[in-house]
Amino acid sequence: MILTAKWVMPISKEPLKYGAVVVEGEEIKDVGYKDEILSKYPQDEVKDLGEVILFPGLINIHTHLDYTILRGVGDNLSFLPWISKLVAKSRKLSFEEILLSAKLGALELLSAGVTTIADTTATGASLQAASELGLRGVIYQEVFGMDDEKIGLILADVEEKYNKLKSQANLKLKIGLSPHAPYSVSGRLLQEISKFAAKKDVPLCMHLAETEEEIEFLLKGTGSFATTYREAVGWGDIPWQAPQVSAVKYLDDLGVLNDRLLAVHVVQTNDEDLELLRENGVKVAHCPKSNAKLGNGIANLPAMLEQGLEVGLGTDSAASNNSLGLFSEMEFGLLLHRANQRDAEVLTAKEVVEMATIKGARILGLEEEVGTLEVGKKADLTAVSIDNLANQPVYDPYSTLVYNASSRDVILTMINGELIYKNEEFNGRIEEVINELKQVKQKIEE
Ligand SMILES: [Zn+2]
Repeated sequence: MILTAKWVMPISKEPLKYGAVVVEGEEIKDVGYKDEILSKYPQDEVKDLGEVILFPGLINIHTHLDYTILRGVGDNLSFLPWISKLVAKSRKLSFEEILLSAKLGALELLSAGVTTIADTTATGASLQAASELGLRGVIYQEVFGMDDEKIGLILADVEEKYNKLKSQANLKLKIGLSPHAPYSVSGRLLQEISKFAAKKDVPLCMHLAETEEEIEFLLKGTGSFATTYREAVGWGDIPWQAPQVSAVKYLDDLGVLNDRLLAVHVVQTNDEDLELLRENGVKVAHCPKSNAKLGNGIANLPAMLEQGLEVGLGTDSAASNNSLGLFSEMEFGLLLHRANQRDAEVLTAKEVVEMATIKGARILGLEEEVGTLEVGKKADLTAVSIDNLANQPVYDPYSTLVYNASSRDVILTMINGELIYKNEEFNGRIEEVINELKQVKQKIEE
């Protein structure tokens, strides 16, 4: 099948005005100008998408689909009261209810042109939702544990959950582990997980240097993570010796910084921290909206890029964003850093789109499969309508995607050559999920 569009953006090369993509089975067979492609493949079925920008499916490298039902719950809370509310509310939900929440998140992503995710789950629900609805990516089993006396039990549980997810995953989904954060996973447990990951070649993901409170907890052993948080999760009696270094240095001293690790947030850092991350090949998930909404600050993306760190874009969960789409993330991220640096030459629309496509793919080890429109790659595609006032005129499609387009402009999402979403249609699945979610919402409101 040949898909033709007003603009085709391969990302690996300049945008093509009046372009075409040839899809055969799961793969991209060819990409080029419409006239050339049509004369090269005269027998193929042609589908003209018209006034759209056709580009690779977006890659959101930090989500928690399980928490989608908590969108808008705790909008005006700072990190600690927010996470406490999140934990309390989600504990009320059954697995079936969390699964519905994860399905809502997966449907939102697909309708927003996101085809690949890196998602962290405590329950396994997001794996089931991603798998049923056709998303690609990495699903990380979340790990908590500060009590080293129980480390044997915790590790056995981690291995069991990891194996369970692995047995449920399809070919589009890889399984990883996510030790939650330096304040919720002990140093010893982190080292053990890191060893397990090295032995089995498992990708890792961890929230790192997100808040000032986290840094205070590590530097001095004081602050709300030492008191409120530890009491709330029942760790008040477990001894804690502050390492008296930054969050990044702490992980380096533990020997757990390596190229398998995706560090999420990385807001509270200095130059030495960024250098340690780069030296060790650690990748970064930049989540500008979530960091801003929770009042956690601004990660130094320009410095990360200058140092040569690999950085992709993530939204974090709907509970702290509140959307899972990447258009507003791209726009906000770019504008935020320009305002913060008082420099209009900081970041271009092209650089931000690359973060949401090929750079995200590289970070997840999927650059041979997705992230650009190139021959032999998987046919993961997104089309955004430019047939509306807000997106006209188009001089540079990168500019349109970042400064103008919204998730609601997405008219088509294809994964592995399969048309998953088209013109607001999911083959009826969406109504079913929304209806069932109404009951879960009532429970959250109680
Ligand atoms: Zn997160």
